[in-house]
Amino acid sequence: MWKRVARWLLKRSGVQEFDYHSVFIEREVIHNVIEFAKKAHPNEFSAYLQGNVTNKVLYIKGIIYEHYSATESQAIISADLPILHEVVGTVHSHPSFNNLPSSADKRGLFTMGLANFIICQPYTFHRVAAYNILGKPIDFTVIERVKADKSLKTEPSQKPA
Ligand SMILES: [Zn+2]
Repeated sequence: MWKRVARWLLKRSGVQEFDYHSVFIEREVIHNVIEFAKKAHPNEFSAYLQGNVTNKVLYIKGIIYEHYSATESQAIISADLPILHEVVGTVHSHPSFNNLPSSADKRGLFTMGLANFIICQPYTFHRVAAYNILGKPIDFTVIERVKADKSLKTEPSQKPA
């Protein structure tokens, strides 16, 4: 069932490959998430995650700021709409000490991404959690920046999920 939902979503956003068994996220992205969560505090921040699925590995390479309350970052956000075909996930912060998804998260934000990250206080690496489109926890691996072509050759071989 969830695959059908995901397929529909990703067809709309232009990503053809929706199935994945691993999630890799660049360290820089996590750093940005931490920084923006801290700046937004005590408010939430939310953004889209940019990346792609290659050989059933979901790579998350950047943040696309949709709306964000802190004025200092307006230049980064700009008025541009997200590049929809590169949106693979979402991230938002909880100004509490709880990084579990709310029911509103599962109904709303999570339906827009394959991998959905939540960070809560005190906004460290260890307080970042990821969930699939249904709100079930998923594992992720933090990687250094992907260097376009070369990195693709070193990725794990394809295995059944
Ligand atoms: Zn939430």
